[in-house]
Amino acid sequence: MQINFLDLKTQYETIKEEIKNVLLAAVESGQYIMGPNVKVFEQEIASYLGVKHAIAVANGTDALVMTLDALRIGPGDEVITSPYTFFASAECISRVGAKPVFTDIDADTLNMNPEEIEKKITEKTKAIIPVHIFGQAADIERIMAIAEKYGLHVIEDACQAIGAEINGRKLGTIGKAGCFSFFPTKNLGAYGDGGLVVTNDDDLAEKIKLLRVHGSRVKYFHTIIGYNSRLDEIQAAILRVKLKHIDAWNEARRQKAKLYNELLQNTPVKTPGVKDEKSHVYHLYTILAPERDELKKYLEQKGIPTGIYYPLPLHLQEAYKNLGYKKGDLPVAEETCEKNLSLPLYPELPEKHIKYIADAIIEYYKKG
Ligand SMILES: *Cc1c(COP(=O)(O)O)cnc(C)c1O
Repeated sequence: MQINFLDLKTQYETIKEEIKNVLLAAVESGQYIMGPNVKVFEQEIASYLGVKHAIAVANGTDALVMTLDALRIGPGDEVITSPYTFFASAECISRVGAKPVFTDIDADTLNMNPEEIEKKITEKTKAIIPVHIFGQAADIERIMAIAEKYGLHVIEDACQAIGAEINGRKLGTIGKAGCFSFFPTKNLGAYGDGGLVVTNDDDLAEKIKLLRVHGSRVKYFHTIIGYNSRLDEIQAAILRVKLKHIDAWNEARRQKAKLYNELLQNTPVKTPGVKDEKSHVYHLYTILAPERDELKKYLEQKGIPTGIYYPLPLHLQEAYKNLGYKKGDLPVAEETCEKNLSLPLYPELPEKHIKYIADAIIEYYKKG
């Protein structure tokens, strides 16, 4: 059996005709940067998410960097985030000259533990960046309450969580701003890089629109120092097609995750701890497994690819040596890095593959 961890080509086959048409139209239009597709995509995704402003940018990392910059966060400031995430969630903080402060995660959801956040707040703290890791809602309502109490901005890193919601509100629209990535492997992926900032704040939206085009509202007149960070017309055209399918794709991911959960029920692995169904879109299906490395090897021999997201928490990365953390400082994140294993999951993954994978996991632990 040929099992893929992710299969973007199969998904392409299901939307091929439409993609070909919009690509050709975009190429033939002669407008390649900040044209009609970007504009309409911004309106469509704002409406999908239920948010006032959506500003398309070059990638998810830029979305985060420009949001921090627009909020005037910089040298001397501290921003609290998760140590268990992709590097960009903290890199953006360092990029604007501020200091990332890492706080431990909840062993069940693998998201920032609100109880730990409050302990890390100082006079220098300006913002919190909760990451909705693997597509599951962080405890955003409690984080909002903490932020309000201390007058902090909340910037949601929703790069893995498009379409997930909590109490009827889409993730990314609850904080001051939400940032998304359209990297090809994300749940809503372009065929190249792309990103998005969303906000209900008019001033912040204006500022980000300015920043993405060199701080310029009128061509060749620059009011602030900006960036060159735009979404291409071609990518916007592709994303407009794919946005129509996102709910169905996320639902398919949920169904497949449910099947994994059922099949793995009586094994020593811990399946994702989910509070409510709609709050998770399973960008990744990640289990915590005893003897993780041995299990991974065993599955590999059976033709089952798996992934480790992530092998090293951010507070122990070489790039952050200067922050002075040591092993043992954030024990839950550290243990999670030793046990996590992501299993194949994508909307088109055949159920028989899931059964084969679950059987192999059951077999492995029987042997041990
Ligand atoms: C993918 C990702 C990013 C960065 O997005 P890019 O588009 O790759 O720049 C940031 N944070 C998280 C949690 C991500 O998964």
